Amino acid sequence: MRISGYDTLSISELKFEGDEDDFMLKNFRDRILLTKDKELYRKSIMEGRKVILIRSDTIEGQMRELMERGVKFRIVMDRCSLCNTPLRKPSREEAMEVIEREKLSEDMLEMGLWYCEKCKKLYWMGGHWKNMTRFLRKLEK
Ligand SMILES: [Zn+2]
Repeated sequence: MRISGYDTLSISELKFEGDEDDFMLKNFRDRILLTKDKELYRKSIMEGRKVILIRSDTIEGQMRELMERGVKFRIVMDRCSLCNTPLRKPSREEAMEVIEREKLSEDMLEMGLWYCEKCKKLYWMGGHWKNMTRFLRKLEK
């Protein structure tokens, strides 16, 4: 979702106390809840919470279900896949700092780079990128 530019939160990243279902029902009500839990889905409908019930067990199947609901999976460099922060172009200094720290090649400065200022992480179009593109193309068929 994040790779496609959707503002996304995962329950595993949230701190809460008490019942998970209760928490999900009462918080982040401006967001759409994605769940495989039929009971939570039913409760969400009753409480008037926006919710989508996911049925498939595979990533591919789940993505197809979301595509049927109008989610567009495309690869854009909008958000950090680790922390959800919007990405921006790095300055030369920022890019160099990561390149030196991670012992990357300086040639990377010539590539299209994106930067997460929170994680101090660089994104670029590498092998992972090409695999994702191939995977998405397969899904669209
Ligand atoms: Zn980040």
